[in-house]
Amino acid sequence: MTIAILKNYVADKWVEGKDGLAEIASAVTGEKVAATSSSGVNFKAMLDHARNVGGPALRKLTFHERAYILKDLATAIMDRKEELYALNEHTGATRKDGWIDIEGGAGTLFSFSSKGRRELPNDTIYVDGASEQISRNGTFLGQHVYTSMRGAAVHINAFNFPVWGMLEKLAPTLLAGVPAIVKPATATAYLCEAAFRIMIETGRLPEGAVQLIVGGTGDLFDHLTGQDIVSFTGSASTANKLKSHPRVLKEGVRFVAEQDSLNASVLAPDATADSPEFDLFIKEVVREMTVKAGQKCTAIRRALVPQSLMDAAQAALADRLSKISVGDPALEEVRMGALVSAAQCADVRAKVAELAAEAKIVFGDPKEVSILGDKAKQGAFISPVLLRCDDPWAAHKVHSVEAFGPVSTLMPYKSLDDAIELCRKGEGSLVMSLFTYDPATAREFVLGAGAFHGRIAVINRDSAKESTGHGSPLPVLVHGGPGRAGGGEELGGIRGVMHYMQRTAIQGSPDILTGVTGAWVKGSKYQATPPHPFRLKFGELEIGKTIETAERTITLDDIEHFAHFTGDTFYAHMDEEAAAANPFFPGRVAHGYLILSFAAGLFVDPAPGPVLANYGLDELRFLTPVSPGDTIKVRLTAKAKKKRNDEYGEVRWDVAVTNQNGDAVASYDLLTMNAI
Ligand code: NAP
Repeated sequence: MTIAILKNYVADKWVEGKDGLAEIASAVTGEKVAATSSSGVNFKAMLDHARNVGGPALRKLTFHERAYILKDLATAIMDRKEELYALNEHTGATRKDGWIDIEGGAGTLFSFSSKGRRELPNDTIYVDGASEQISRNGTFLGQHVYTSMRGAAVHINAFNFPVWGMLEKLAPTLLAGVPAIVKPATATAYLCEAAFRIMIETGRLPEGAVQLIVGGTGDLFDHLTGQDIVSFTGSASTANKLKSHPRVLKEGVRFVAEQDSLNASVLAPDATADSPEFDLFIKEVVREMTVKAGQKCTAIRRALVPQSLMDAAQAALADRLSKISVGDPALEEVRMGALVSAAQCADVRAKVAELAAEAKIVFGDPKEVSILGDKAKQGAFISPVLLRCDDPWAAHKVHSVEAFGPVSTLMPYKSLDDAIELCRKGEGSLVMSLFTYDPATAREFVLGAGAFHGRIAVINRDSAKESTGHGSPLPVLVHGGPGRAGGGEELGGIRGVMHYMQRTAIQGSPDILTGVTGAWVKGSKYQATPPHPFRLKFGELEIGKTIETAERTITLDDIEHFAHFTGDTFYAHMDEEAAAANPFFPGRVAHGYLILSFAAGLFVDPAPGPVLANYGLDELRFLTPVSPGDTIKVRLTAKAKKKRNDEYGEVRWDVAVTNQNGDAVASYDLLTMNAI
């Protein structure tokens, strides 16, 4: 077999390391498959290139333009996924395991692409929440905004998901307009490099947007500044080493860490041996032990069951584990492949030996396993190992030693509070799962254990079929956890993007804030001259374009008519005495919906035109009651625009309904879809 010499991607060129090649063996056959070296790479120049070339190029693009790049990268990975599956086998992973990594990685890019286009503006600045009025007359306001960090994001990834691990960090980084330097774990760098190469070959990434280091990071950390971000996934010991680097401390470099985690899964006290939750729990524990041969940061390391169900749970787990076939991941009949390397195998065996001081091995032999497939004899295979710890209260290692392989420890608890306490002994985890059919138990658990977990998956007979399971980080939900898990947060949709941006509170007049944010702020100047804003196409409509309507007086007949027509004969509209007794109303008042309808009647320009549809209302408030005889009018102002596709975009309108005294009657945002 020829060994692939992996290349670094430095300043938009592929560069081979000068010497000191580290060879990488196939996890399955033990043959050498690739070699890496970053020797000779100028790491300072890499950072400079990211800052001086990649950053400016990305920041010129709007969030939407960056989002389209992500989509194209994801499409390219999907189009060429078989090239990646071919390499995936060498990592010891089955095709199903590889699916999580390769297609799951592309899926994460797709998801961020679509979230970016839906939830971020077609702009380069992100407006965070509503403006804050901080002066009495509204001439001085505050508004939080996010802008792109001016440095580089350094991504240091773990070996277990070489594709997903890279893409789940790249998606929010690139969307934020920040260039990245990716450093994969050496053990599986060949798969990461292949996926990286596919992305470069799309030609869609601006120069300097991404660079790759295969091998060590040299003196990279010595050149970091407070505008750079390190996002790390791996062991706690490496994380501690890197985050206490003098330069990181001195410059206050942002450091996001995802590290070890002793994740727990709990079968709740409401479950019995014949309840559906018992079976679901057993299935999930076995799945988490064996997917990716347990080399998942989210895998279940501690399985907690009511004391009375210990024997039943052990028997059921052992029965299922006995059906797991181990061997060459290329074979269809194989359910579990190899660990990533012989070194990893040795590490897992050593960790099992540590755990065995406090727990008994009740399934599997860490030194013996029967392997399917002839070419797999030299691979890094290990049997699934189930341990049982009957005294988890006195034990320490079962809550702190992470055997990063197909290893889990079964343990009893005495009560719900006790189960919560045992979960907390993990000292901060990425995820825990709870198998219960009782919402009150779920609430108690979340209150008791929430502070120690980044994610809690509650699974039962109603959700199991559609559940994404205990171990899947999702692009839309936060991935990370406190304490031992690193205290970092990745993903979580747009929250993940904000790790690579700086939040700044801007203070100024409404016009200044409108100018800064590109979204019309209440109190700003507006243009109420013809034409009617509904006559303008999406591209022609300017923020601040306004229609001030004629007036309409609301009569008692209007209220009666609306009440009988809609069936809404609530007493506040129909019964003078009862309405007057209500603390909010002076007597009979108009329906809120009547005011909305009349407002629309006042501002709508009826003929067919660029406005395609009313899409909804946000932030609706009824502020002053409208009595029969009151007169209302409306001011409608284009507040913000978001292009959806080449045919139409969303327009957000500020709507202010006032009465004859100038009092605000109703205030809301109207959303329409307008033709491009
Ligand atoms: P590791 O040794 O800490 O390696 C992680 C990454 O750090 C690799 O890319 C490694 O590169 C790099 N690295 C190591 N020393 C470095 C240094 N001095 N300077 C710069 N980079 C350095 O972790 P591992 O043992 O490979 O991974 C398994 C661990 O990762 C487990 O503990 C697991 O819990 C954790 N993990 C956590 C998550 C999560 O999301 N929380 C996900 C997956 C794994 P080289 O490979 O080149 O040494």
